[in-house]
Amino acid sequence: RKLGVALVGLGRYSEGQLGPALKETQHCYLAGVVSSSEEKRKRWQAQYDLPGSNLYNYDTFESMAANPAIDIVYVVLPNALHAEYVVRAARTGKHVICEKPMATSVEECQRMIRACQEAGVLLSIGYRLHFDPFNKEMMHLGQDQVFGNVKRIIADDSMTLEKEEWRLDGALAGGGPLMNNGVYCVQAALFVTGELPVAVRAEFSPKTKPDLFRTVEEGIQWEMEFASGKKALCESSYSKDGNLLRVTAERGWFELNPAYEYKGLKGQTSEGPMEFPTIRQQAAQLDDFALCVKRGVTSRVSGEMGMRDVEIMMAIYESARKGGERVTLHLEAYQDLI
Ligand code: NAD
Repeated sequence: RKLGVALVGLGRYSEGQLGPALKETQHCYLAGVVSSSEEKRKRWQAQYDLPGSNLYNYDTFESMAANPAIDIVYVVLPNALHAEYVVRAARTGKHVICEKPMATSVEECQRMIRACQEAGVLLSIGYRLHFDPFNKEMMHLGQDQVFGNVKRIIADDSMTLEKEEWRLDGALAGGGPLMNNGVYCVQAALFVTGELPVAVRAEFSPKTKPDLFRTVEEGIQWEMEFASGKKALCESSYSKDGNLLRVTAERGWFELNPAYEYKGLKGQTSEGPMEFPTIRQQAAQLDDFALCVKRGVTSRVSGEMGMRDVEIMMAIYESARKGGERVTLHLEAYQDLI
């Protein structure tokens, strides 16, 4: 049978991507929603033909425990709410997917992982690019050294933000473009090299709009250093647009531009263009997790991977706060995740 997914938080990502993806999935479907807005619950009920018994608000959330139609709870809320709702979802006995970035501190990630372990449920992060053909090709070209050893990575994920929203509120977002976009650059540097960084250095960009960027950085640039000598030079900003992953190796180069979008990705290598179909990444991601649940195996985009990335981002912030000081990382515990 198809597993039932409940979306928690009916904002733009649920509405524009996850709901539509759940109409295409083979192994799971949209079974329920959690929202504080009655208007949204009713709209989703009509659009997805949901039974009234599968509509929840944040006060009735815990009663999902008794609903066998819901197997997986997908937390799609502002970052600072991920920890609370993942822990609450785990305690209902449901498997959990949490959107990126996993949380706003390593301590929160630890609590989330522990809650899922104690409840005996699986936890996965919404890292859709692991299921995208172009990004999978970048993993293969880098990790299998198709163009020789990787030397250098350049990654930029930036998007212009001009209006107030939770992403500009440090308390809800846990940080600025690094947390929202830069996490993709961090991910890419690791999945292309197949290695863990040993140190980072970072600098905040000067604020050009201090009124808008009161509690989060406007932009940040950072370098990740790997034990093998590889380097990744990365950037994320809310004051420009950018969407690049470029890799230089011993005998050639390969790149995606754009790299991190839902569709329209374009890939080039020093030997010619990449030809892959555009797929709905979120459907592939959701189906992969549904199969993990059916088979009782850990997702390749696990809670531990989410925590690893939060740990790296916290080190990047520490370096930037210290004016670019080199901050070392000790990520040996994550060796098996690549
Ligand atoms: P959004 O602002 O469109 O939606 C957020 C939802 O959370 C809204 O329905 C809002 O009502 C609800 N909410 C509950 N409590 C809130 C509070 N205290 N303040 C503000 N909103 C509150 O945001 P979004 O773009 O849907 O992002 C939600 C999550 O999904 C974030 O963690 C984000 O990083 C992630 N996301 C991931 C991707 C991806 O490609 N994987 C893309 C977009 C967003």
